[in-house]
Amino acid sequence: MKVTILGSGTSHGVPMIGCRCAVCTSENPRNKRERAAALVEFDGHNVLIDTTPELRHQALAAGLTKVDAVLFTHAHADHVCGFDDLRRFCDLRKGLIPCYGNATAMARLKYMFDYACTDPKTNFFDIPVVSFNAVEGPFELFGRRVTPVAVEHGRWGCTGYRIGGFAYCTDVQAIPPESLELLRGVETLVLGALRHRPHPTHMTVEQALEVVAALGPRRTFLTHLAHELEHEATNAALPAGVELAYDGLRFDV
Ligand SMILES: [Zn+2]
Ligand SMILES: [Zn+2]
Ligand SMILES: [Zn+2]
Repeated sequence: MKVTILGSGTSHGVPMIGCRCAVCTSENPRNKRERAAALVEFDGHNVLIDTTPELRHQALAAGLTKVDAVLFTHAHADHVCGFDDLRRFCDLRKGLIPCYGNATAMARLKYMFDYACTDPKTNFFDIPVVSFNAVEGPFELFGRRVTPVAVEHGRWGCTGYRIGGFAYCTDVQAIPPESLELLRGVETLVLGALRHRPHPTHMTVEQALEVVAALGPRRTFLTHLAHELEHEATNAALPAGVELAYDGLRFDV
C-alpha cells in the first residue's frame, strides 16, 4: 500500500492570507501546506481521503488521474469544498465514485452538494456522480477491510480510517478509549496536531505525542499543521519515529 500526503495544512492553509510570520514567508517548500488530504493506493485502486478546496491542484501535483472511492473524515469546509472537482474523475472513469463517511458527514455533503447525482445515464461531465454510503463500522473496500475510527472534533466529530497497518486521523481533539483500541497495533499513523498552543477542537503537538506514546506505532506523521509550526525546527524537537508530514510526502505501508 502506498500513501501520499496531498496536503498537510490546517483549515487556513500555510501561508495564511495576510500573515507575514517567519513560516508564512519561508522559502522552504515544506512550510507550504495545502488543506489536509491523502491518497491511499492498493491493488491498483486509488482511494482519496477528503476533497479539499485544493483538490484540483493536489491531483495535478500528484499526477492523479483515477479516483475509485473517497473516504470523508467530516464535512468541514477545508475537507469537502473540492467535492465538485470529483466530476473530472467521474468523467475519466465514465462511472460513479462511491463516497464513505459517518451519517452526519454524508448528510452534510448531500445538503451542500444537492446537485450531485447517482443517475448512471448522466454524461459524467457536468456534475459529480457519486453514491453516499454512511458507515459506522468496518466495511470492505476493494478487498480490504476499512475500519472507521470515531474521534472527538467539535460538534459533529470526525472519522479516522484504519486500513491494515495504516491509520489516518486528521481533525481530532481527543480519541475516546474505544477508538484508541481500534488503532492498537497500527504500524504507520497519520495524526492531526495543530500547533503548540491549546485549541478547542484540535490536539496540540504535545497531546498528539501522548497518543503516539499510548499506541507505539513504528512511524507517525503529524498533519493538519498550522503556521506556528516551522518544519525543520519542529521536526528536530520531535522524538524518534515521529515527524511532520509535508505536501507530497509519499511512503509505503
Ligand atoms: Zn480540518
Ligand atoms: Zn503565518
Ligand atoms: Zn474539522
